[in-house]
Amino acid sequence: MRSTEETGRSSLARDEEEVFVAEAASGVASAASDPIPEKPSMRDVFGPGGFLERCMIGGYEHRRAQLEMAEMVHDAFETHHHAILEAGTGTGKTLGYLVPAICSGRRVVISTATKSLQEQLFQKDIPFLQKHFAPNLKVAVMKGRSNFLCVEKMNHMADQALLKGMDELDAFQQIKQWAKLTETGDRAELTFLPDDSELWSRLDARRDTCMGQKCPSFNPCFVTGMHQRAKDADLIIVNHHLFFADLALKQDDFGSILPEYSAVVFDEAHEMEDVASDYFGRQISNFRFDELARDADQTLRLLHLGTPGLLRKTQRIRERSRAFFDTFPPRDGRYPFSRAEREAFLEQNREAYDDLASALKGFETECAAMTQKPEEVLRIARRSFEIRQELSFLFESNEKNFVYWYERRNKGVFLAATPIDVSQILRERLFEQFDTVVLTSATLTVEGRFEFIRSRLGLDHAKERALPPEFDYPEQALLYLPAGMPDVRNPGYAAKAADEIVNLLETSQGRAFCLFTSYSQMNELFERVRTRVPFPLLLQGTSPRSVLLERFKNTPGAVLFATASFWQGVDVPGEQLSCVIVDRLPFAVPSDPIVAARVRALQEDGRNPFAEFQVPEAVLALKQGFGRLIRTKTDRGVLALLDSRIQRMAYGKIFIESLPRYRVTQNLAEVSRFLAGKKK
Ligand code: SF4
Repeated sequence: MRSTEETGRSSLARDEEEVFVAEAASGVASAASDPIPEKPSMRDVFGPGGFLERCMIGGYEHRRAQLEMAEMVHDAFETHHHAILEAGTGTGKTLGYLVPAICSGRRVVISTATKSLQEQLFQKDIPFLQKHFAPNLKVAVMKGRSNFLCVEKMNHMADQALLKGMDELDAFQQIKQWAKLTETGDRAELTFLPDDSELWSRLDARRDTCMGQKCPSFNPCFVTGMHQRAKDADLIIVNHHLFFADLALKQDDFGSILPEYSAVVFDEAHEMEDVASDYFGRQISNFRFDELARDADQTLRLLHLGTPGLLRKTQRIRERSRAFFDTFPPRDGRYPFSRAEREAFLEQNREAYDDLASALKGFETECAAMTQKPEEVLRIARRSFEIRQELSFLFESNEKNFVYWYERRNKGVFLAATPIDVSQILRERLFEQFDTVVLTSATLTVEGRFEFIRSRLGLDHAKERALPPEFDYPEQALLYLPAGMPDVRNPGYAAKAADEIVNLLETSQGRAFCLFTSYSQMNELFERVRTRVPFPLLLQGTSPRSVLLERFKNTPGAVLFATASFWQGVDVPGEQLSCVIVDRLPFAVPSDPIVAARVRALQEDGRNPFAEFQVPEAVLALKQGFGRLIRTKTDRGVLALLDSRIQRMAYGKIFIESLPRYRVTQNLAEVSRFLAGKKK
């Protein structure tokens, strides 16, 4: 489950509600010697001797699964139906959906899991297709508004003494110079800027602080210009967060982010349920109050309206918010917040709650009483009102399909209501609204079937296909299931797991990922292994994720200890990653309020949550984790699972039968022989 800070609605309200679009550079005419037919079949493009083979001489080989995928996606576009396809690594699934999308002549939204996958499509696959296949193709990339510079804020900041210290002044000068040159205004171009730049958060184009059409910089605004170009695009590349933010806005009749489109392709579709759950839910945090107070102060000062009375009101919001969030228990973690628990909380902390609500109300009243009410002030007062509504919803509503919870993490306290089941929402808002939705990922099936993912997403009617793997898994990967491992709940488990990890690392000469289902398990095993092996060990949390990954790739024999965020989206082809060790079957934590609510809902429905939800979800997670190992046809390596339940329990068979056909052993000597074979 992703963290609320990364994905919560409070951040979506700011970051993903609106878009920025960058138009791809237009391509040149086809480089292939034989022109492509006007309406090519997928075989003309992907078949043996087809268009792709001709224009990527030596760099492309026909893949049966890719052709089959393209034909299915093409058929979905032509005959207007939904399709769901499992396509393993190496299938070439990106071209497998992009080419049929282009051939459809429809405006298609392509939704990927992350911003970096968006960039990859836009910078690699799209230019190739524009060059060789579709020179007139117009493509737009759309990201959340907080990725982009607000021209108006920058102009104001240049006039005012709002910068703190020389470093900030220097960074601001660089941003100003860049703003003259950039075509996109996308902060991804500002490589010197740290991810958590405070300065950027005061300059970004988030919706909360945007004046829209009343803004004097509306025309030169990066968001405006790119919005317009988005309307001309044939393909629009978004991420799931932006897509579901848009869908949720449509639901609330708050307008929309994306221009009209007629079909959607979801890549990494296994992530849809989690992301949709965040965006159809509600959330606030202490950060949202702080940001409101900060933006209010800044706006009032810039407009020379910062009277002592008003500034006292914003200060009161800050203080009351601090007092209110301090009433939550100090321990980190995520906890249920049922109706009874919320009532008990309010009984104890009613004063802090009422004080916070009245601080917001007081600020709104003060704004309303101003004789001069510029648009910026009206917006900030409206934002305060919306936060007050959200607070009241989270404490006073009791929606049946929502689970209420709170989380304390580091300096944040997050209050949320998350839909227990998004299937009905997606059925009505997505699958019944669009006639062509294509879902693809390397991990969608459980025991070769799509029932689980289809029922979780409300996808009732779709053509489906699990494409044959491109890799020779029995040759390329060995699955090691050590004999004699105690149960993971046994006190002796950690010591035995550490022994196994040490043995495996010696056999693989480091070059391994050790993936854990919890931080505590990761830290304990790291401590137990640390002094027993000579390899450079990297530990999640000691540096940013991207830095750790780079270090892993560039350090001979490195070993990375990590948790959930490294289970997917990580690509290390070649020998540097020769072994993936997983500590236990990745069942979701049953005490997590969202998991517990989903289990309870299935029980109340007379169904078996373990078989229908917990096992299938863990199967998909394990497939993701193991999928890190074999990324190309020449990769070889060992997968190890230190959880004996896969061998002892009846459900273990479901895991085994859902994985690719790896060769399996219980014998460490065979692991050694397998890896030695690799080095020959
Ligand atoms: S319209 Fe104006 S206020 Fe809104 S993001 Fe653009 S420049 Fe900023």
